[in-house]
Amino acid sequence: MPEALKRLIHNISLLPGIGENRATKLAFFMLWANENYLKELRENILTIKENTASCETCWSITDAGKLSCSICNNENRNHSQICVVEEYLDLLTLEQSWWYTGVYHVLGWAISPMNWVFVGDLNFSKLFTRIQDADNKIEIIIATNPNLEGEATSTFLCEEIEKRKLKHKVTLTRLSRWLSSWYIEYADTMSLVSAMRERKEI
Ligand SMILES: [Zn+2]
Repeated sequence: MPEALKRLIHNISLLPGIGENRATKLAFFMLWANENYLKELRENILTIKENTASCETCWSITDAGKLSCSICNNENRNHSQICVVEEYLDLLTLEQSWWYTGVYHVLGWAISPMNWVFVGDLNFSKLFTRIQDADNKIEIIIATNPNLEGEATSTFLCEEIEKRKLKHKVTLTRLSRWLSSWYIEYADTMSLVSAMRERKEI
């Protein structure tokens, strides 16, 4: 096999969820693909970082040069309801359900000491500032994954809100646990909407 093809297969195999076999298939697809498609793909990969930025309010991803994302900027959304998720992909999954009309806060990770992810790695401080600065009482919907790491993150968040004397400013709710997956990202719309609808105050 040519060295160039080997290198491409290696690069592709490093992508999440893609093993050696799929990487080989994708590399061959690229080998025979249209030149314009490959140029566009290369351009998009090379510029993805410079063309995107973090929303300064909720830490989701927005277009470079914009301070806030389209959800934070949308006056029709309920800004007194903040859904706290681990990752941007969780936000996208919730948005696909078309049910939730509040805003979000993306933590970036879940607390997981086994994977060397600690409290300081998560975007908590901005969330506490949002709660602090809110004029009215807000609902914090904790939508971390229904697994060990998600639970640890949820517990920390609740304790910290108490510790920082912010409890009077929020109603804390947690998604019901009856999701079709341990990960919100992979949950189906119906179970996600039910988990949202049947959320419990904690
Ligand atoms: Zn935002």
